[in-house]
Amino acid sequence: MNVSDSLRAASLLEKLGYQPTKKPANADVIILNTCVVRQSAEDKAIGRLSSLRPLKEKNPDLVINLMGCLFGVRGNQKIQERFPWVDVFSPPSDPEPLIRFLINRDAKIESEQKQEELNAILDEKLALPQQVQNKLVSAYIPIVLGCSHACAYCIIPSRRGKERSRPYKEILAEAQQLVDQGVQELTLLGQIVDRYGLDLPEKSTLAKLLFDLHEIEGLKRLRFLTSHPNYMTEELLDAVATLPKVCEHIEVPIQAGDDAVLRAMRRGYVSDDYRQLVYKIREKIPGVSIATDIIVGFPGETEAQFQKTYDLLAELKMDVAHLARYSPRHGTYSARMMNDNVPKEEKMRRFRALETLQEQIATEINAQLLGTTVNVLIEEKSRDRWRGRTRTNKLVFAESDENLLGKECDVTITWTGPWSLIGNVKHAAGS
Ligand code: SAH
Repeated sequence: MNVSDSLRAASLLEKLGYQPTKKPANADVIILNTCVVRQSAEDKAIGRLSSLRPLKEKNPDLVINLMGCLFGVRGNQKIQERFPWVDVFSPPSDPEPLIRFLINRDAKIESEQKQEELNAILDEKLALPQQVQNKLVSAYIPIVLGCSHACAYCIIPSRRGKERSRPYKEILAEAQQLVDQGVQELTLLGQIVDRYGLDLPEKSTLAKLLFDLHEIEGLKRLRFLTSHPNYMTEELLDAVATLPKVCEHIEVPIQAGDDAVLRAMRRGYVSDDYRQLVYKIREKIPGVSIATDIIVGFPGETEAQFQKTYDLLAELKMDVAHLARYSPRHGTYSARMMNDNVPKEEKMRRFRALETLQEQIATEINAQLLGTTVNVLIEEKSRDRWRGRTRTNKLVFAESDENLLGKECDVTITWTGPWSLIGNVKHAAGS
C-alpha cells in the first residue's frame, strides 16, 4: 500500500515536470512516506527524517514532505512540532497537500493566478492516472482505503482511518487508463481487500470487480491483497478459479495458530477455520500458492501456544510466511490493556524457529519446479538479469540478450532456492 501511495505521489510530481533523482542532496522535493506498523519502522522513519535536516538547512528552497502513517489521517501536532524543517505533512494515500503546496508556490513565483484557477489545475492533475515512467509492466490500484477491523495489536485503523471502498466505476476507469498506458498486470490493494464493496451504497464484491476487470483487453494478469480469512467467500474463490487472468496466489494471514491467542488478537476465527480455508483454496484452485503473516510473542503467548503456531505452519506448508515479532503500538487495544511480557530474546528465538522452518518448507515447495517450464511476466532488468514473477508470485531471474520487458515468457527452471528461482527463457510471447 505504501509503495502504491509513493508511486502515485511520484507520478503526480512527474506531471508537474519533476524527475526522479537518486541522491537526496540533488532533490528539489523529497517525500518521506512512512510506516509505523512496528516500532522498528517508526524508528527508521524518524531517523530518515532527522537525516534530512542538514539538507534543508543548506538549501532552504528544498521542499520536504512527510507523508503516511507517522502523520496519520487525523494529523499529528506533536510530529509537526517535532520536525519544523518539514514543509508539508500529508495523511496516508493523499498526495494532495504536497501538490497543492507546489502549485501554489510555483504560481506565486510565476504569476498572480487566482485560487480558483489553481484549484482547477489541481483537480486535473489529481485526476490523472497513477502511472510512473519505467513502471509500465505492473501497477497497483488501492480499492479499499483504511480498515475498521481493529485487531488488538494493529495501529493501521487509527492511522489510515475507517474502511472506505472506492467507487466501482472509478476503479474500472483507472484500470482501463493504466492498461491503455501499457500496464500488463494489476494488483488490487486493501487492508482487508476481500471486504471490497460491502460498505458501498450499491453493495458490490471483489469477485464481481474481478469479473469486470477481467474484460479489459490487453490486461494479462490480475492479483489482489491482503485477504482476511473470514471474507474469503466461495464466490471469490470461484472467481479466482474461473478467470484465467486472475493469478493463482492468495495472501491470507493467520497471525497465530493457537485459539486463545487468536481470540486475544481479536481476529474473529479459530485455527481450524483457517485450516479448512486452506484446504478449500487448494481444492478449488489447483497449483495455488498461499502466503501468510504470523506474529510471535503476542502478550501472554506461552511456549505451548507458540508451538501450536509452529505445528500449524509445519502442517499447512505455506509458500511464503511474513514473520513479525510483536511490537506494542500506541493506542491499540493490546498496548493499552495487555502486558508486553514475552522477553525480547524469546520473541527472537520464536521468530528464528519459524524462519528456519519456513526456509525448509519454501525450499521443498520450490524444488518441485526444477526442470519445469513456467510462465513469467518480466517486470524489470536488474544487474544484467531479467526479473519477473510466476503467476504464483515466485520471483524468477533469467538471462537474455532480447528485450523481454513486459513480455510473458516460458521459462525453464534450472535452479531453485527458498526465495527465488533461476531459469532459461524458452519462448517470449508478444508483449
Ligand atoms: N491488513 C493487512 C496488513 C497489516 S500490516 C493484513 O492483514 O495483512 C502487515 C502485518 O504486520 C500484519 O499482517 C501483522 O502480521 C503485522 N503486524 C501488524 N501489527 C503488528 C504489531 N503491532 N506487531 C508486530 N507485527 C504486526
